[in-house]
Amino acid sequence: MTAVHLPLTPNLWPTAMTGAPAAGRCRFCGTSFRHQVVDLGMSPLCESFLSVNRLNDMEPFYPLHVWVCESCFLVQLEEYVGGAEIFSDYAYFSSFSDTWLDHCRRYADQMVGQLGLTSDSEVVEIASNDGYLLQFFMELGIPVLGVEPAANVARVAQKKGIPTEVRFFGREVAQDLANRGHMPNLILGNNVLAQVPDINDFVSGIKGLLAPDGVVTIEFPHLLTTIEGNQFDQVYHEHFSYFSLYSAERIFAAHGLPIYDVEELPTHGGSLRIYAGHAEDTSKTATRRLQALRARETEAGVDTLAYYESFESRVRETKRKLLAFLIEAKAAGKRIVGYGAPGKGNTLLNYCGIRTDFVDFTVDRNPHKHGKFLPGTHIPILAPEKLWEARPDYVLILPWNLKDEIMSQLAGISEWGGRFVVPIPEVTVYS
Ligand SMILES: [Zn+2]
Repeated sequence: MTAVHLPLTPNLWPTAMTGAPAAGRCRFCGTSFRHQVVDLGMSPLCESFLSVNRLNDMEPFYPLHVWVCESCFLVQLEEYVGGAEIFSDYAYFSSFSDTWLDHCRRYADQMVGQLGLTSDSEVVEIASNDGYLLQFFMELGIPVLGVEPAANVARVAQKKGIPTEVRFFGREVAQDLANRGHMPNLILGNNVLAQVPDINDFVSGIKGLLAPDGVVTIEFPHLLTTIEGNQFDQVYHEHFSYFSLYSAERIFAAHGLPIYDVEELPTHGGSLRIYAGHAEDTSKTATRRLQALRARETEAGVDTLAYYESFESRVRETKRKLLAFLIEAKAAGKRIVGYGAPGKGNTLLNYCGIRTDFVDFTVDRNPHKHGKFLPGTHIPILAPEKLWEARPDYVLILPWNLKDEIMSQLAGISEWGGRFVVPIPEVTVYS
């Protein structure tokens, strides 16, 4: 592996590693990109929903080229758009999925028990969104602090009484929080690690802020399920990195935060929750399930370039099958409506070239999106009631990771013979 500048004195505030990632180089270890995993063409930013008066404007499209680093096997996009542009006014509100909220409540209960958290403890969440998770710790009487870069989303949390700083987390913010007396026993980040352009700055910030016997848990989609499940729509500009346990272990260990445990979760089509603590904290040792997953990844070959070579041809096949289904349905006069407006939906629709010629509109529970249009494809986003008025033959479920929840909510479409279409891992119709 190319040398990185490791923090040599972990008890002191960690030193910066390599600085901001350079173009065409691995954002962790700095090796030049030479091996492409998949080219999904050009796509607009997935959360850039358009209002009606913007429909005739030019839209910026950026490449969705996925690379794998031959040194550390971190799978990643180049950074074409800065985080500030993407995340400072973000339309994603975590609190609109029941399945996700249940997941968060269980996590809070589990961690309070496991770490023995009390009213003297502190929990810091990075990318705390609208307070969807910290609210459960607050209900249990644990002091919390959220750090959230999107001001509009952070305001929602603040209105709920959840202390939230509107900032991008990194070493500088961590140092400022530490100077102000924060020393969290638990730092957590759900679905934020992928979105961090300067990963060394981010992990180094966690190292500096965490209490000596503290725990950090981070959740991210698992590269193994992304690749094996054909989940190419997990790729969008907001997701700079795609982690295996292998690459995550290298990154956290390099910053003096070895991973000692891992859980496999069903969220987002298959995620990992890693647990890490300070290298100096000898109370934490590698669990059996960590060793088992390491072995599984090695067997799959995530640390070999060969593992990544067949993905692109499978992605293209998935596109052809979905288009074949949609063409046949339209030829038979069927009406198709979408459900949801998630980031992954935009990758799928733009990569496959699916616009209002196939999908009349999509519906979403998030009122912030109603009346807007999907970027690139310009499919209108309407309130869920419109689906019941339209009585479509097929509902294309874009957040397929929530398909069970959505199909039970919409079970009533069977009244008129409506059916569900799930596009990933390959197009499947459910009655
Ligand atoms: Zn690398």
